[in-house]
Amino acid sequence: MLQTSDHVVVVGAGFAGWRFVEALRREGYDGAVTLVGEEAHLPYDRPPLSKQVLVGKWDVAKATLATPELIAKNDVTLHLGAAAAGLDVATTTVHLVDGREITGSHVVIATGARARRLDFTAGADLHYLRSRDDVVSLLDDVAALSPGSVVAVVGGGFVGAEVATQLDARGLRPIVLEAASRPLVGALGEDVSTWLEGLAAGVGIELRSGVQVGDVTRDGDGFSVRFADGDQLASGAVVISVGAVVNVEWLATSGLTIDNGVVVDERLMAAPRVAAIGDVARFMWRGVLGEELIRVEHWQVANDHAMMLAHEWVTGVVASAPLVPYFWSDQYAKKLQMLGHVRASDDVVQVIGGTEEGKWLALYSRDGIVNGIVALGQPRALMLTRHFLEVPTSLEQALELAPWAG
Ligand SMILES: Cc1cc2nc3c(=O)[nH]c(=O)nc-3n(C[C@H](O)[C@H](O)[C@H](O)COP(=O)(O)OP(=O)(O)OC[C@H]3O[C@@H](n4cnc5c(N)ncnc54)[C@H](O)[C@@H]3O)c2cc1C
Repeated sequence: MLQTSDHVVVVGAGFAGWRFVEALRREGYDGAVTLVGEEAHLPYDRPPLSKQVLVGKWDVAKATLATPELIAKNDVTLHLGAAAAGLDVATTTVHLVDGREITGSHVVIATGARARRLDFTAGADLHYLRSRDDVVSLLDDVAALSPGSVVAVVGGGFVGAEVATQLDARGLRPIVLEAASRPLVGALGEDVSTWLEGLAAGVGIELRSGVQVGDVTRDGDGFSVRFADGDQLASGAVVISVGAVVNVEWLATSGLTIDNGVVVDERLMAAPRVAAIGDVARFMWRGVLGEELIRVEHWQVANDHAMMLAHEWVTGVVASAPLVPYFWSDQYAKKLQMLGHVRASDDVVQVIGGTEEGKWLALYSRDGIVNGIVALGQPRALMLTRHFLEVPTSLEQALELAPWAG
């Protein structure tokens, strides 16, 4: 348990890092807290960047989570624009790129992930969407385009679909270029990706699946997207949205286990007095199918990690509530929501609604046990099924209980 004489150093001033700091104080910890962040900005929230901010409903400043008042209230020593370059686990010392060292009694790793870059000729003129700076730069460029201009969105996953939705709402003509046979087929499987396939067309957004972008080059004021089959597409701007890469390089010599994230146990511990939370953590998760080492890029999971860890470190009580991964995405005028942790190979059954209605709820199961729920435009029904992911429930039992029908 933390004592007043302790000093908690949190590396990564993003969502998980900031939520953890707030939770520490809320739980009653009154010792020292230092928050170190590579970006120059105060901690901010990412989901609004590809939604309210990109469409122009919010000024980017509204995504700020930690105002100067909240920083002062939470009594946090803040180092922004200060990237960590190394961690000495034995002495819990964080080394910064600028040569400074910060030694705490405890270290929390919350360095998240960054956008995966593609090595195209147009290089720095391409857009990505992970950070506050990214969205500001994208907004600057799209503001200069005339209405109806084509914007190529490379990657039709969650963020790509949201970007296309907002660009369309801004009067531009996004064209989504997806390499797989259907968007999200690798994450959600054949059935659900088939049901989602028509969403873009439903709102008049062009989606081209099964296309390989070989390169993007500058072409006058715009760009030329070159496909592997020789075709080309002229575009006013190009947004690349092909997933994320975990920020773990700074831990290369730490001795921690790094394998698609910082590997931690079910209490989020990577080593004595060193924990990892949020997108960067590959954690031992106890789901309805047993234990599994998972890493997810979900806002709610980052939040739950922060709450769980702060509660345990301050009170000594290990959280007993099961962690049920939750994710949502606002795309093509619909709300897509997911509970659980599914594989593309899981069995899927649609239990309410229909693809034509644009509203449905589907259960995922593996070995006959419900392990995930995906809903399109059915938030109430989704929440009514949540307990299937807290207590192992057979698919048969779930279909009999049918809580969504109530
Ligand atoms: C555009 C966008 C939209 C999203 N929409 C949704 C959504 O609709 N629903 C949903 O569930 N999730 C969504 N997510 C995912 C969600 O935002 C993440 O799960 C969440 O931000 C994870 O928080 P984090 O603190 O772990 O990581 P991050 O938010 O990535 O924060 C990590 C911080 O650490 C800093 N850092 C990195 N390396 C270092 C270093 N060496 N030293 C110091 N600091 C460092 C980074 O600069 C960053 O500020 C979205 C993400 C993006 C990018």
